[in-house]
Amino acid sequence: MVADPDRVYTLADLDDLNVAPVPLAVFGHPIKHSISPAMHNAALADMAAHDERFGDWCYYRFDIEPERLGDALKAFAERKFAGINLTIPHKVDAVDMVTAIETDAATMGAVNTLRLTPEGYHGHNTDGFGLERAIAENLDVSLADQSIVLLGAGGAARAAAVQCLRKGCKHLFIGNRSTDRLAGLIALLENALPHASVTGFPFSEVPEAALEADLIINATSAGLKPDDEPPVDLAQFRGKPKLFDMIYNPAEPCLVREARKLGWSAANGLEMLVWQGVRALEIWSETDVPAATMKRAAEGALTAH
Ligand code: NDP
Repeated sequence: MVADPDRVYTLADLDDLNVAPVPLAVFGHPIKHSISPAMHNAALADMAAHDERFGDWCYYRFDIEPERLGDALKAFAERKFAGINLTIPHKVDAVDMVTAIETDAATMGAVNTLRLTPEGYHGHNTDGFGLERAIAENLDVSLADQSIVLLGAGGAARAAAVQCLRKGCKHLFIGNRSTDRLAGLIALLENALPHASVTGFPFSEVPEAALEADLIINATSAGLKPDDEPPVDLAQFRGKPKLFDMIYNPAEPCLVREARKLGWSAANGLEMLVWQGVRALEIWSETDVPAATMKRAAEGALTAH
């Protein structure tokens, strides 16, 4: 069967699939709503217009259950999939399944981009890059010297925290709902980056100094559902910070809406999704990637959903 980039496949389908000469894929569970195939295949079509090698590349989507991830990675390496993106729930589990891992991805404890080498898959994490680039593009802010409040302590927050600290933010305040997960992230950061300036807090007790922050980043899932409430009251922040929310669907999640009501600059996570994808395709193709094409395709795919 000729593989169709618009369809969702499973590991059981792999043997019967006739894929492009240079196949790429995203694994998730669920994966049906991923807009990554639309973004990557639009970029590859553009790239093929200038360099015919990319006419052989195609990006597919696979629903892989967490317990099948190890088997899937072996099977996809045998089938010579040149690159794999990983999304929920695979980013952390895959860390122990790759043959080598880039330093920041190891510190983040999560990989979202795998590149096939003769030894096996090498793990990278492009979420931190995507976040930094999106904040620069949308809010005109660089992370260095900023006092930053990060909301959340899950996988996305780990990548954000490491990126903020590596880029020399002035201080990082991390708030989370569950104290256990918060303590785990703080311990991980103190261990990996001993000189880092980090303070954890529960949402009910935002530290005084955090109220003067320059930038707030939401890495919680609060805002994914239309009736979600903001995890913290933004009105208590005095410094008119800028707000970046990693959520991109809906386009105006609750924190972005509240920030705009207060007259702050705010952006959703679409640009982050685009730039993590740009970086992944750069890693695989070792060439420049048309970011504007990827962004247009992402916007088009979201509208079509
Ligand atoms: P995880 O499941 O690993 O973490 C979820 C986080 O959200 C935890 O800190 C959790 O807190 C918190 N949370 C969940 N519900 C609520 C709530 N109602 N109120 C307050 N806190 C809540 O998910 P990820 O870290 O992978 O993803 C987080 C968000 O970031 C998602 O919305 C995801 O779509 C988005 N994302 C966007 C990307 C992009 O490219 N734009 C890339 C990656 C993620 P607790 O510990 O208390 O459960």
